[in-house]
Amino acid sequence: MGSDASIVQAARVSYGKGTKKLHEDRGLIRYLLRHRHSTPFEMCEIKLHVRVPMDTWRQWIRHRTANVNEYSTRYSIAIDAMQKTLPGEWRVQATGNRQGSEGFLEAAAGAEFSHREEELHTMARGIYDARLEAGIAREQARKDLPLSTYTEAYWKIDLHNLLHFLALRMDAHAQLEVREYATVIGREIVRRWCPLTWEAYEDYRLSALDLSRIDIEVIGHLANGRTAEALASVRAAGLLPPEGEAVKRHVEREELEAKLDTLGITVPWQRTA
Ligand SMILES: Cc1cc2nc3c(=O)[nH]c(=O)nc-3n(C[C@H](O)[C@H](O)[C@H](O)COP(=O)(O)OP(=O)(O)OC[C@H]3O[C@@H](n4cnc5c(N)ncnc54)[C@H](O)[C@@H]3O)c2cc1C
Repeated sequence: MGSDASIVQAARVSYGKGTKKLHEDRGLIRYLLRHRHSTPFEMCEIKLHVRVPMDTWRQWIRHRTANVNEYSTRYSIAIDAMQKTLPGEWRVQATGNRQGSEGFLEAAAGAEFSHREEELHTMARGIYDARLEAGIAREQARKDLPLSTYTEAYWKIDLHNLLHFLALRMDAHAQLEVREYATVIGREIVRRWCPLTWEAYEDYRLSALDLSRIDIEVIGHLANGRTAEALASVRAAGLLPPEGEAVKRHVEREELEAKLDTLGITVPWQRTA
């Protein structure tokens, strides 16, 4: 429901005017998004029919601002499909980020885990089917199905809340599986549905940088060649220890380093990551 036109129409109701020329609509949408005027974006809604493995769905369903109806495995037989992992797709636990992964297992080792995954899926489904065959209730028979089992749902959400979902789930910190769904929703669906909004969203959210007071202070010093002052600001904010003490990892400092990288500014202290 709705389009870019519904967003500008809603925003202009406050002074009783409808859609104007395209470039004016574009400017208004960009202004609304930049200044976080959220309610006009709630005039657009989308309903998706999704098929998602249970572990990914568990993250997805945490977004409370959607309306959901999910396939019932109490009422119906569980979907006979599980998400499979190819030999080259087993990701290695990240060392720097406890929640993340980095790189892949060697394909030869991965092949063994893919093979065992196949065995596990077959066994779990076989036991489930046997329970149903024996007359065990669907609500209980399902309890040992793996999290890789697909579920389906209708998922309806307004554009404002969808953009919030996408900001969290397209982000590099989100798990790859949910990120892939979010990327398709964003770049394939929303981009075509509301192109002006998507363009503004790319510019002001996805490809934008949030700068804290500390970031601004440090970047201001570095951009003007005041390295000593920049270091003093970083130390004063507790992101670096006092001079002479061992430098340990610090999440906020690493985030600042990433921002400096994006801006093409050389980090003037030794990195730990
Ligand atoms: C990378 C990542 C890692 C995560 N790790 C964990 C984890 O380890 N453990 C864990 O439990 N969760 C984790 N989460 C889930 C996360 O904490 C949120 O629950 C989830 O992302 C939903 O975000 P949300 O509440 O902003 O979204 P929504 O539920 O869609 O809500 C959108 C916005 O509406 C408002 N809102 C909605 N409901 C309420 C309410 N009842 N009261 C007040 N305001 C409300 C809030 O402003 C909220 O931001 C993780 C999420 C991400 C993206």
